[in-house]
Formats: sequence, C-alpha cells, structure tokens
Amino acid sequence: MPIATMNPTSGKTEILIEPHSAAEVDERIAQAAAAVEALKATTFAQRAEWMRAAAAILDDQAAGLGELITIEMGKPIAQSVAEVEKSAKAMRFYAEHSEEFLADVALEDPSTVNASAAWTRYEPLGVVLAVMPWNYPLWQVIRFAAPALMAGNAGLLKHASNVPQAALFLDTLFERAGFPEGSFRTLLIGGREVGAVIADPRVKAVTLTGSEPAGRSVAQIAGDHVKKAVLELGGSDPFIVLPSADVKAAAATAVRARINNNGQSCIAGKRFIVHADVYDEFAAEFATQMSGLVIGNPLLPETQVGPLATESGRQDLIDLVEDAREKGASILTGGTVPDLPGWFYAPTVIADLPEDARLIQEEAFGPVASLYLAKDHEDALRIANQTTFGLSSAVWTSDPEEEAFFVAGLDAGAVFVNGMTVSYQELPFGGVKRSGFGRELAAVGQREFCNLKTVWKA
Ligand code: NAP
Repeated sequence: MPIATMNPTSGKTEILIEPHSAAEVDERIAQAAAAVEALKATTFAQRAEWMRAAAAILDDQAAGLGELITIEMGKPIAQSVAEVEKSAKAMRFYAEHSEEFLADVALEDPSTVNASAAWTRYEPLGVVLAVMPWNYPLWQVIRFAAPALMAGNAGLLKHASNVPQAALFLDTLFERAGFPEGSFRTLLIGGREVGAVIADPRVKAVTLTGSEPAGRSVAQIAGDHVKKAVLELGGSDPFIVLPSADVKAAAATAVRARINNNGQSCIAGKRFIVHADVYDEFAAEFATQMSGLVIGNPLLPETQVGPLATESGRQDLIDLVEDAREKGASILTGGTVPDLPGWFYAPTVIADLPEDARLIQEEAFGPVASLYLAKDHEDALRIANQTTFGLSSAVWTSDPEEEAFFVAGLDAGAVFVNGMTVSYQELPFGGVKRSGFGRELAAVGQREFCNLKTVWKA
C-alpha cells in the first residue's frame, strides 16, 4: 500500500507522502536511542509536566485533529473528536500515576532471603517500536506512547500506511511538549521494512496492534532476536443476551457496540448470541435499529455510519457476507453497497449461519452483525468460545448465577456485564488465544516495557 491519505468518503487520494529512506530510518532510530539516554536524567515530575503539555496540545487542536482523523479513515466526526479527548485524558492519567505504578517494592522480611534488604524496581527497556493500525489513529498510539514515555522509554512509530498525516502529527507532538529530541519518532515505512527495525540492536522491544498475520510475522522476528513483544490482534467478540436481561436495552447497546467506528473496532460486539426464549424479540429490535441508522458523510454531525476505511477492507466484508448468503444464511437487513461514492457498506444483520460459513470463524471488520440462536446457557457458551479469537466479550443478565457462569467460562481477555466493551485507561486491555498476548493500559500495561530489576543486599 502506498503511504497516502485516500479519503474513504470520496475514494479519492488527498495526499501522497514519500516514505523514509533507509538512511532516514537509521537516523531516526539513532535519535530515539540518544533520547533514551537523555530521558535517564529526567524525573517522573519532569516527564509528567511534558506529558500534560502534550495533552494540552491535543485539547487545543481537538476540532482540527478530529477532522483530520475523519478525512483519513472515515469515522463520524463526533467519534473522532472524542478519540482526541480520550487520548488527552489517558496522557494526564499516566502523568499522574506513573510514579506510583513504577515505584520500588521492598520485600517485607528480607531475612527470609538472607538479606539486609531486597526490593524490586522498574527500569525502562529503551527504544520500543510500535506498529499501529488506522482504526483509532490517535488513541492506539497514545495508549502505548503515554505509559512508555512516562516510564522513560523512547518510542518509534510505524503507523498504518493510510494514516500518514496522523503519523506525522505524532512525530512532533512530544517534542513540542518538551520531551528530549527523538523521544518519539515516526518511521514512514511499509510493513516489509518492519523486520529490519525489530532486528536493529538499538531497538529493545516491539508492540503491534493489528491483524493476526501481521502479529505472527512481528512476533516471529522478535522471537528470532529474543526481544519482548506485545500483540493486540483481532477479535470476534461474543455479545450474549439471556432471558433475564433487559432485552430492549441489550438491543440498543448491541447496535452501538456493532457500529461504533463504522464497525471497525477490535472489541466491537460482532457475534450476537441470544437465548431461544428472547431470540425473536431481540432479533426484531436489533434489525429494526440497524436498518434505521443514518449512513453518509462522516463530517456531518447527523451521520451515524461512515465509510469503511479502505476499499480492500470493504471487499473483505462483501466477500464474507456473500459467502454466508450463498451458503443459505438469512440477511435480516443490509447486505448491500449503498449508492454513494466512497467505500460504504450498509449496516447488516445475518442470521441462520450454516456451520461452514466463514463468518462463524472470521472477523467481520465493518458494520456486519451475526446472530446466533442458543438453546441454553451451555450452548451460548459453546458458540461464544468456538472461534480462535479471545479478545473481549459481553453478557447481558440480571441473574448472579448466570453472570458467574459466563464470567468464569468465557475464553476472553475481558467480560463486560450488561454493557459493551470499552477500553478504559484504568483497566488492563488485551486478549487470549489468537487475539494476542500481553496487556496494555493500567499499571500492568505500563510495566510490559520495563525491566523489573530485583535488588538483593547482604
Ligand atoms: P494490519 O493490516 O495488520 O495493519 C496493522 C499495522 O501492521 C499497520 O501499521 C500495517 O502496516 C502493519 N503491518 C501489516 N502487515 C505487516 C507485517 N507483515 N509486518 C509488519 N507490519 C505489518 O491490520 P489492519 O487490517 O489495518 O487493522 C485491522 C486489524 O487490527 C483487525 O484485525 C483488528 O481487530 C485489529 N485491531 C486490534 C486491536 C486490539 O487492540 N486488539 C485494536 C485495533 C485493531 P501497513 O498499513 O503499511 O500495511
């Protein structure tokens, strides 16, 4: 893919950007390595001041940045502005809490290890490479960068090739706020050049948010060089509705869970698994609300669903729906390409999926919901756990025993009860199975890119 902003609403190329040469990449890695040394001489308080200044830049530019995000990847403008605000909030959170999250911990009774004292301390690993996707072009990067920089690491960003303007904004953000030169650097490179950056001895670790094939490749290369990797990959999250739930509220939330970000969120509810006793009621309500959504130009405030970010992403979605249709599934609403320029796809609900439909196993990265009828609780859990993914999940119930059954039984990195999955800076975020490994956010996410050093003293 060329490095370019191709406006998904019009399908037209807005701007083509020259990638960095090998020499420029080398220079940028050198800057990041030098920044690690400079950061060693800084305190948490100093870094917190800079991080707050970077958050203030986001606040000041929220409207313009929001528009840039919408033009580059097509999400409705209010969601783009909310992404900027959420990013600024996370920066302030890490400015406030990093010293506490990374504080030394002393062993209460050092005599048990024959020491006069023993403690652990968190030290930065050094330069960390972040390979990031386009779907939350600011938030995905900040949820890595804010904790990493506060810990004293430097960051290198290889952003998705279709959001170069967001990538270039991030290239200078932290320096403008006061961080040492090179603390955070964008590399305008393609996926194929990532391996050489991971292999570079100045780079100590890598984090990737994106698809399973990209994650597999990055983890393989990191493994070859014995470097730490965190992977945040795809998901096909179950959203389970049981008879004890408020079915109307569940249906309304299901719509938001499915179409947020034009359906292109890793933690979107994608498979709606409904108990037989309330299946018809839920299906009717859900399909009616999905069919009533306003599709159109995402810069207009009334728009609820904008275009898919890339033409190839829309084609992947069309292929999944057509596969299901050909194999006999029922399309309750949607399943069509609206007559609009750009890469739109109608909000779609599909039911009665045959066992061999690709949608049973594969992630639908767009506004396409699959409906499943579950005979009982065990059946609902079986369907929920039958994919290779394990990112997040949701269950709707008012019965404590049901809740305990699903919280314990769901193979996922998170369970949201009577709600939809949202990433919160205060809560760890990440998956199991082929959704990846490692965690982002909260204290545990910040510690992923630290050396936990044990100190023992005679
Ligand atoms: P993608 O194709 O994997 O791209 C993600 C990033 O990886 C981009 O920067 C891309 O660069 C790069 N990349 C692609 N192939 C690579 C390779 N072989 N080696 C190194 N880098 C490579 O993912 P996408 O289709 O843009 O994003 C959608 C996927 O991301 C979905 O599966 C979604 O669920 C997942 N996702 C997960 C999370 C999470 O937190 N778990 C969050 C958001 C999205 P180019 O753009 O240059 O190809």
